[in-house]
Amino acid sequence: MAKYTDADCRLCRREGCKLFLKGDRCISPKCALEKRPVVPGQHGMGRKKITDYGEQLREKQKVKRAYGLLEKQFRGYYEKATRMKGVVGENMLSLLERRLDNVIYRMGIGDSRSESRQIVNHGHIMVNGKVVNIPSYSVKAGDEISVKETSQEIEKFKQLRGIKITMPKWLQFNTNAMSGTILDLPKRDDIDLNIREHLIIELYSR
Ligand code: SF4
Repeated sequence: MAKYTDADCRLCRREGCKLFLKGDRCISPKCALEKRPVVPGQHGMGRKKITDYGEQLREKQKVKRAYGLLEKQFRGYYEKATRMKGVVGENMLSLLERRLDNVIYRMGIGDSRSESRQIVNHGHIMVNGKVVNIPSYSVKAGDEISVKETSQEIEKFKQLRGIKITMPKWLQFNTNAMSGTILDLPKRDDIDLNIREHLIIELYSR
């Protein structure tokens, strides 16, 4: 019988929702949250009543973990969002979605955000014809994203050829050409995670 000792899956169980950290496994019956939807640890079965602060904290942790960020990086997105026009929570989510590692994940090039981060780190991705190996790179509308020509022969990328990938409408990626475009900046409705961003804003505004 399978054991659920996996650190990533424990994060999902802790947050009580799928954070999609393990690629195909997350959409299979092997998902640990499907099999054991309780908080990990000795007292996981009996969850205590949560305070407003606790709820805000959990929401922040959930989003931070989904995007695989450290506290300082995550807070940086909040602070940048407060300096932008518009709704702070929506700005923050849009900035997170525009990270190059997230874009590679959303385009289906990487199975998870962590794998996509590695793909970027290893220099396989080009933006507007130049290699960009910075996972936090923020894409803009109109940017052309492609897999570097010499990397296209790697088995991982060869397997993508010709397959149909479902992705948010602000993105386009052609798996035959191994290139795509940022059609628009992501809007709130394009972000499928069940996020209550107002709780994060309340937490950071304390
Ligand atoms: Fe593990 Fe993915 Fe399921 Fe989360 S969604 S519990 S990472 S398999």
